[in-house]
Amino acid sequence: MIYLDYSANTPADPRVAEAFLRASLDYPGNPNSRHPAGQAAAKALADARAHIAALLRILPEELIFTSGATEANNLALLGSTAARRHVGRHIISTALEHPSVSATLSYLQEVGYEIDLLPILPSGCIDLNALSSLLRKDTCLVSLSAVDSELGTLQPLAEAAALIRHFPDCHFHVDATQAMGKVPVDFSVADSVSFAPHKFYGLVGSGVLYKKKGIPLYPQLHGGESDSPYRSGTPALAEIRALETALELALAEEAARYDLVAAHNVYLRAALKGKAKVTVNSPTTAVPHILNLSIAGLRGAAVQAALALSDICISVKSACSTDALPSRAVFAVSRSRKNALASFRLSLSHLTTREELDALLGALAPLLH
Ligand code: PLP
Repeated sequence: MIYLDYSANTPADPRVAEAFLRASLDYPGNPNSRHPAGQAAAKALADARAHIAALLRILPEELIFTSGATEANNLALLGSTAARRHVGRHIISTALEHPSVSATLSYLQEVGYEIDLLPILPSGCIDLNALSSLLRKDTCLVSLSAVDSELGTLQPLAEAAALIRHFPDCHFHVDATQAMGKVPVDFSVADSVSFAPHKFYGLVGSGVLYKKKGIPLYPQLHGGESDSPYRSGTPALAEIRALETALELALAEEAARYDLVAAHNVYLRAALKGKAKVTVNSPTTAVPHILNLSIAGLRGAAVQAALALSDICISVKSACSTDALPSRAVFAVSRSRKNALASFRLSLSHLTTREELDALLGALAPLLH
């Protein structure tokens, strides 16, 4: 099998799986329990929290452990708007967001919030002039992804933050799920940042919401029994220890992994150049891990099915989107519904080999005539 869907999920690094197993076996106690087993688990949790915070250059108390990026995004959007009802009901975001953001925004719209989506420039970046003119006194939230999951566009977060800073009551949330482990993420520009380690060779079932100290947020899961006032539930110590290992490895190996992926991206773009039916939807400024393409006359789902016959795994939009609808992200950059319906996503890894790329190109060849 040739796996080219690393933006949906990555295989766990054996060192991560080992950390998970070790913590599962070594700490039978609940970190909230007062007995020695509980206290040993609580100490391991505090150590992991401190180490993860140091890796991210944030404070330990700014970390909220969640079940994944979906929960982290829901908590950020619902929790920040609930805490800022006095500010207003105006929200700014983009058409590039993952469903865990866009569907939460649709819910907020249903309950009375006004949502403005920023125009996307042909470069794939948000229009900062539009952000500047859309920001208002009653804007309670701006939510942007650091890297979007379909095209891989990198957004100018520091520039956006400089504009948002003029509105101190506005919460700035960044979904960094597709950025972490791929490119450096500066947490200091945002009020909250979400990510999940299963995108960088960690495990599914854990995630993080960073919330800047002093920024108001209403919890969405109630019940206590946690190490955080913002998220109830027994802390998932083994998942958190696995996350710690995945993050440490991803940051230590980030540059080397990036270079390998960038070389794969250059190879594929060169091989597809001049093929009349192919449109490359990912801008050249996108992260190299994501290459979004369209083949004229074919739906993305048809390309996915054709490649599956050769045991090649790619995705149509992100794993959590409905394939029958045209990609909002591709439409935002190309303004073409046909192109958006035809789009599909290759996502690459440092584990990808040149032989796998050649097999992909071979399987695509009959579709390009
Ligand atoms: N945000 C982005 C940009 C994503 O790509 C994803 C997953 O594909 C998510 C959020 C949701 O992550 P999770 O699967 O951990 O809930």
